[in-house]
Amino acid sequence: MIPYGHQIIDAADRKAVDKILQSDWLTQGPKVLEFEQALAKYCGAKYAVACTNGTSALHLAYLAAGLKHGDEAITTANTFVATANMLLVVGAKPIFCDIRNDTYNIDESKIERLISKRTKAIVPVHFAGQPCELARIKKIAKKHRLLVIEDACHALGAKYKNTKIGSCKFSDLTIFSFHPVKSITTGEGGAILTNSKHYYQKLLSLRNHGIHKDAHGKNVMTALGYNYRLTDIQAALGISQLKRLNLFISQRHQVAAWYNDELGSVKEIILSKEIVGNYSAWHLYVIRVREPQARDKLAAYLKQQGIGVNFHYPAVYSHPFYQKNGYKSLKLKNTEEYQKSCITIPCYVQLTRADVKQIAKVIKDFKIFK
Ligand SMILES: *Cc1c(COP(=O)(O)O)cnc(C)c1O
Repeated sequence: MIPYGHQIIDAADRKAVDKILQSDWLTQGPKVLEFEQALAKYCGAKYAVACTNGTSALHLAYLAAGLKHGDEAITTANTFVATANMLLVVGAKPIFCDIRNDTYNIDESKIERLISKRTKAIVPVHFAGQPCELARIKKIAKKHRLLVIEDACHALGAKYKNTKIGSCKFSDLTIFSFHPVKSITTGEGGAILTNSKHYYQKLLSLRNHGIHKDAHGKNVMTALGYNYRLTDIQAALGISQLKRLNLFISQRHQVAAWYNDELGSVKEIILSKEIVGNYSAWHLYVIRVREPQARDKLAAYLKQQGIGVNFHYPAVYSHPFYQKNGYKSLKLKNTEEYQKSCITIPCYVQLTRADVKQIAKVIKDFKIFK
């Protein structure tokens, strides 16, 4: 079975982890700080706070931003449920904006009409690693005094107009995940980046039970926090992986280029494309089937032929939990069309030209396409 995504771990990664296992620090220690500094430097942001996963990174970012009961945040339904779930966890309401038909990212031209008195933040998600139209989003946010919190779980290593995602040039906070299918992995892991010292200090405290040192150096708890600490074992892996991140992303670009080459002539599907000004992290390679009735059959056929496929994503509001909790009548046009027609085909660093050729052949052989 060729999976849809896979981590890549080498001898240097194993050595880095082994070194920590033989040291005195296993929990959060010097390696976490080193990882945070390396990550901030890579992205061009002032501060990074590492934590247990992308979901806790979202939770911490929303808390640091002050999102609370009665607030609304405008986001996309074409994302992993965690983006919206954590809004609900802090008591805020996700307001889903429709997506663009070319990038499947939030449609920035439809954001403004969703803004209400309760709106506090815009949460763009760089779907599949392709950056959202951040300059436009930031402009809207500035005009209406809203925060921008980027869910960049797909987009570590991506660039928007030559600016690294994570720089927070167009946002207040940016969060990443280091789950094994993402750009780099620490097993489980996540981080929040920011240029604000205020948010940075809040995040550090909330990650550690809301405890921090007061003016006299005494540990005090001043907010209700969590234990969302990353371990030095994971951080060592992250530091080692980060060194190869650019290499990983360029290989993903190669895979995407191979797909575009192999599948360009198949008129029954729509391929993913990078738009001008974007350098994608190619976290996912999504194809769309023009005849949505054929989508599930193609997916089943690919699976049967040993090719791991997935659907990214069923609209968040279509899940039973959201249907039961106020989103039953919501139907966003592009999101609806997209969710019925998308298939994610394998895209990861180790995929070879031969693998891509084979996957493309199976797609071309699919009987409905003949
Ligand atoms: C992976 C992912 C998350 C959650 O990250 P975890 O590390 O799995 O908790 C959140 N948002 C998006 C868009 C993701 O892809």
